Amino acid sequence: MSEVKAYGAKKESADLESMKIERRDFTKDDVEIDILYCGVCHSDIHQVQNDWGGSEYPVVPGHEIIGKVTAVGNNVSDFKEGDLVGVGCMVDSCQTCDSCKNDLEQFCENGATMTYNGEDKHLGGHTFGGYSEKVVVNKEFVLRVPKNIDTAAAAPLLCAGITTWSPLKTWGVKEGDKVGVIGLGGLGHMGVKFAHALKAETVMITTSESKTDDAKKLGADSVLISKDEDAMKEHKGTFDFLLNTIPVSHDVNPYLELLKVDATMVLVGAIEPLEDVHGGNLIRGRKRLAGSLIGGIKETQEMLDFCGENNVTCDIEMIDIQDINTAFERVKDSDVKYRFVIDMKSLKES
Ligand code: NAP
Ligand code: ZN
Repeated sequence: MSEVKAYGAKKESADLESMKIERRDFTKDDVEIDILYCGVCHSDIHQVQNDWGGSEYPVVPGHEIIGKVTAVGNNVSDFKEGDLVGVGCMVDSCQTCDSCKNDLEQFCENGATMTYNGEDKHLGGHTFGGYSEKVVVNKEFVLRVPKNIDTAAAAPLLCAGITTWSPLKTWGVKEGDKVGVIGLGGLGHMGVKFAHALKAETVMITTSESKTDDAKKLGADSVLISKDEDAMKEHKGTFDFLLNTIPVSHDVNPYLELLKVDATMVLVGAIEPLEDVHGGNLIRGRKRLAGSLIGGIKETQEMLDFCGENNVTCDIEMIDIQDINTAFERVKDSDVKYRFVIDMKSLKES
C-alpha cells in the first residue's frame, strides 16, 4: 500500500482540501497509473453535496482520468509501462453476470465498482477518484487513448464523452435526424459535437442565450432558447431525438412536446425524482421518455477510437487543483467553457 496526495471533501458540502489517501499495491490483474489530468464533472459536485444520498466521506471525486501506466500485474498483456491510458466512472465489475457479458458493465448485476464512492473490494471502505496522484485499476477498466488527440482535452471523454455518445448510438441517431441536445455544459457540448459528427441536424436547446455563438461553433446547426415559448411552439413535434443533460429535476413536459411521433427523449442528468410528467405528452404521439448511464467499456473504447479518427476532443479550461472550489462554483452557475480539467502537476508539486 502507498500513501498518495489527493483532494477531497471531508464532510457534506465542505470545500475540497488537500489530504492523503491509500492506494493498494497492484495485483496480477491491475494497472497502476500516474494521473496527468482529471476532468471535473457535475457528478463530482452532486457527490460532494450528497445530492443523491449515500455519499461517504471523505469524497475524493474524479472519473475523467488520463494518465501514464507506471506498472502492470503479471496477467496484464494489453498495457505496459509508459502507455497513455484513460479511466472513466468504473474501476471493476463482476465480469460474469449477463450485463457484464453483454458489455454493459455499468449495469453489472452484482454492482460495478464506481471510481469514487464505490465499495472498495480490495482495501475495504470506499473508493477514491482521480483528484489524486495515482490510481490502481483492474485491467478490464483501462482504456487506450488515441495518440493523435490532445491529452488534456481527451480527459472529459471518459465520462461526458461516453455518456452522450452511448444514447446517440443506442437510439440509432443517423444522418439527417433532427436531434436536440438540452443544456450546454460538459455533457451537452460533447452531445452537440457527436450529433454533428454523426451528421444529424443538431439543435442546441439552452436556457442561456449568451451561449448561442459557442453552440454554433461546437457544431449546432441552430439554437433554441428554451425560455422562449414562441420558439418552443415553432419546434413542437419536430424532433427525432432529444438528449437531456439538465442536472436537476425540472419540468420535462415542454421538451416532450418537441418530439415527433414515436420519438424518444433520453435523460442523463436528473438522477432524482422528476416533476410531474403529463401522461398525455407520452400517450399522444406514442413518445418515449428513457434514461441512460455512461456506457460499457467496449463502447467507451469505440467512442475514443472514433474521437481519434475524427479528431474530436473536448473544449476545456485547465485549472490547478488549488482552484477546484472556485471551479465547482462556476459549474453550478453554468459558467464553464465547457469542461474544467485539472492539471495534476499542480497536486504533485504542491
Ligand atoms: P454542467 O456542465 O453543469 O451542464 C449542465 C447544463 O445544464 C448547464 O450548463 C445549463 O446549460 C443547463 N442547466 C443547468 N441548470 C439548469 C436548469 N435548472 N434548467 C435547465 N437547464 C439547466 O453539467 P454536466 O457535467 O454536463 O452534467 C450534467 C448532468 O449529468 C449532471 O447532473 C451530472 O451528474 C449528470 N451525469 C450523468 C451521467 C450519466 O451517466 N447519466 C454521467 C455524467 C454526468 P444551459 O446554460 O445551456 O441551459
Ligand atoms: Zn461524470
